[in-house]
Amino acid sequence: MHKYVIMGIQGSGKGTQAKLLADAFDLEHISVGDIFRWNVQHHTKLGAQVRRIMAAGDLVGDELVESVVRDRLALHDWNHGFVVDGFPRNARQAEFFLESWDLDAVILLELDDDEVVRRVLARRLCSQCGVDYNLIAHRPKVADVCDVCGGRLEAREDDTTEALAARLRTYHDKTRPIIELFERKEFVARIDASRSIDEVQAGIRAALRLAG
Ligand SMILES: [Zn+2]
Repeated sequence: MHKYVIMGIQGSGKGTQAKLLADAFDLEHISVGDIFRWNVQHHTKLGAQVRRIMAAGDLVGDELVESVVRDRLALHDWNHGFVVDGFPRNARQAEFFLESWDLDAVILLELDDDEVVRRVLARRLCSQCGVDYNLIAHRPKVADVCDVCGGRLEAREDDTTEALAARLRTYHDKTRPIIELFERKEFVARIDASRSIDEVQAGIRAALRLAG
């Protein structure tokens, strides 16, 4: 049984790495973002709640995230373990993990703030069909034009230098106490996330002593 938590700032490739790891070792990828998206798309009661929060311009609160993760973990529906992605969000929730689950490791994807800024500011979105592009990793064939529908590519509204600086500060303020807590009690695998997707994945497997 393998029980992991994966942490990393946006742009660190956290979701991609969690999915690769889960697919390779038959683990459940428990992504808080995916759970919320699924509920919004399927018009569930939780989805309606999330929609109201977002419409008001707020972020989904820590309590709601916590109850969703608790319910999800209570299903015990994995054969070989899980990778939790998007939780814990604060030190109290990290305590919950330490009390309730015998984690094998916390995977921490590390990326310099400068590299986060470079990656996030390179993101583009098609204004017509919503397909994602990235001027570093996934360029369109013609500059500023969507490969799929020919629509105009635009930066996301909240991907500005100022907004990013604020998000980075919040991330570090919230994450530092969680990492410190985990480091006192658990194995924290610090992984350099500036490398290619394959190299980062290999680094994770080596740190966790997973063969394959
Ligand atoms: Zn398009």
